[in-house]
Amino acid sequence: MECRTEKGVRYLTSDAIEAEGSVNAFATRVGGVSGAPYDTLNFGVVSGDNPEGASRQRALNMRRLGTALGVESLRCALVTQVHGNTVVKFDPTEEPESGAPTKTEALSKTEALAKIEADAIISATPSTAVGILTADCLPILLFDPVTGAVGAVHAGWRGTYARIVVNAVEAMAKEYGSKSGNIRTALGPCIGPCCYTVQEEFYEKFLAAFGSSIDDSFKFVSESAGEGSERSVAFDLQSANKAQLLEAGVGPANIDLSGECTSCNADLFFSYRRDVTSRGGSGTGRQLSMIMATASSDRRCV
Ligand SMILES: [Zn+2]
Repeated sequence: MECRTEKGVRYLTSDAIEAEGSVNAFATRVGGVSGAPYDTLNFGVVSGDNPEGASRQRALNMRRLGTALGVESLRCALVTQVHGNTVVKFDPTEEPESGAPTKTEALSKTEALAKIEADAIISATPSTAVGILTADCLPILLFDPVTGAVGAVHAGWRGTYARIVVNAVEAMAKEYGSKSGNIRTALGPCIGPCCYTVQEEFYEKFLAAFGSSIDDSFKFVSESAGEGSERSVAFDLQSANKAQLLEAGVGPANIDLSGECTSCNADLFFSYRRDVTSRGGSGTGRQLSMIMATASSDRRCV
């Protein structure tokens, strides 16, 4: 994974996936126009005293990211994220019964999608960007260079427990014929085990559901004195989702990990735990992670 700064906008990109025919980015918080505490490249829907100003800033941030990525008038399909395991399919230019859709129809489909409650989006329409917002949860981008299908997944602990990334891989297989062995994945910046401790019951809950495949994702970090005291355990979201991808048949060489912790890097990332839970702040922004297949005329003729 590579960190780039273009036109003042900083983002990470999986160069392995990019080389196979996609534009993909895990945006940082650097290079946008939003004011504190959402400074600056915030893509979250901010409900505050100035929602109009916030949505204008969001549109400006999208434009800035598009310019940095070399994508003219970037629009990104998003959903209402609810920490579940629902995957939605989004192909805005698929022909309705009445014939080819107009540009306005495709736009209104994006607006309708934004209201749907889900935590992953898949698409096989070239030049359609799908995205996910995070501020500690794990963003996962998926790409099948054979079919051109893409996916964006939001995996916090609840989504991870509910195996959302496996659902996304299976949905790409069912809807687009993607073989898991062909799917390339990139796991972006999220809260790292350095900053994410959980109770022992949390570990036991995962152990009961996943067995020993989850072992590497937990590390016991401390044991306080006294009878009945609870040990605290560090949880590694990236490792837990990597284990699920491997079980789903994704090759180890096709899993690209960022290794960045959102909570440790305040200059680069929003972090809900750091900014709101720990510091009692009024809010924090949301990072956008997005992927789109670049248009390819011969991909489907294999
Ligand atoms: Zn950390």
